Amino acid sequence: VEGRRVRGGDDAGVLRTASVVIATGGFASDYTEDSLLRKHRPDVLKFATTNTKGTTGDGHKMLVEAGAKMLDLEDVQVHPTGFVNPADPGNMVKTLCAEILRGEGGVLVNRWGRRFVNELGTRDHVTGEMLRVDNETLRFAIVLNAKQADKAFTHMGLYQKKGLIERKETLEDLAEWGFWEGGVTAKALSASLKEYDQDAKKGSDPYGKKFFHNVPMSGAGPYYVGVVTPVIHYCMGGVAISPGGDVLREDGSAIPGLYAAGEE
Ligand SMILES: Cc1cc2nc3c(=O)[nH]c(=O)nc-3n(C[C@H](O)[C@H](O)[C@H](O)COP(=O)(O)OP(=O)(O)OC[C@H]3O[C@@H](n4cnc5c(N)ncnc54)[C@H](O)[C@@H]3O)c2cc1C
Repeated sequence: VEGRRVRGGDDAGVLRTASVVIATGGFASDYTEDSLLRKHRPDVLKFATTNTKGTTGDGHKMLVEAGAKMLDLEDVQVHPTGFVNPADPGNMVKTLCAEILRGEGGVLVNRWGRRFVNELGTRDHVTGEMLRVDNETLRFAIVLNAKQADKAFTHMGLYQKKGLIERKETLEDLAEWGFWEGGVTAKALSASLKEYDQDAKKGSDPYGKKFFHNVPMSGAGPYYVGVVTPVIHYCMGGVAISPGGDVLREDGSAIPGLYAAGEE
């Protein structure tokens, strides 16, 4: 490797350097023609992503062409909660609904207003349960009470500003939310949340949850709600490098002058 080709507007040229470091991130947003997701994890292509539009594994593709050894490209992490923006539901790039919301006690419910998972389970577990419960729409609701929302106020402020979280004053308002399937009633929601509060008192629920923060959930309101869906989040695989960052070929030798760092 003797340098790199650069392009800026209509100008292009070759920048000669003694070494080149590839640090172009992962490929969690690679829905392109020569998609690495399509090649290594076609099953996740149905999910949107938390990564920016440009996270398309350009570096990985260059490294493959240069004869580098690639590792574990099938290890792609799916995060259970990316926000579905009601103003732009089809956008494949989604804002992450951070774990703090579930950490402070926010509950996940399906389109029928029922809980289905230990919200504090691993990302894999929660995503797996979502696929089991509603593989058709992949849409779920996250519901927080006022205390939980208050504890996560920095995040909640941003999410509300972006229109990703709505405030519902009462259970009746919550029941009228357009998300629910087939007329979920305030009574049914109340029963679901009361059941959760009883589980909290016992310190366990049918899904293996043991920590119930900022209960009760079945109070008067207000409630804070948003729609979430599983999203491609992180690429664990990448290129083989030496402890010094040299990019390695299949035979373990270093490609002179070529280095890599980061999510590659
Ligand atoms: C929403 C979100 C939350 C996260 N939260 C955490 C967290 O809490 N803790 C944690 O440890 N990790 C977190 N991560 C993961 C972490 O951000 C990434 O793993 C990390 O940023 C990867 O660093 P990187 O330098 O490899 O790539 P990036 O930070 O993605 O940087 C790659 C850079 O290369 C540029 N680039 C790409 N292609 C080209 C090209 N062809 N030409 C020129 N430039 C190009 C990009 O524009 C970008 O600037 C999160 C990720 C996301 C998306």
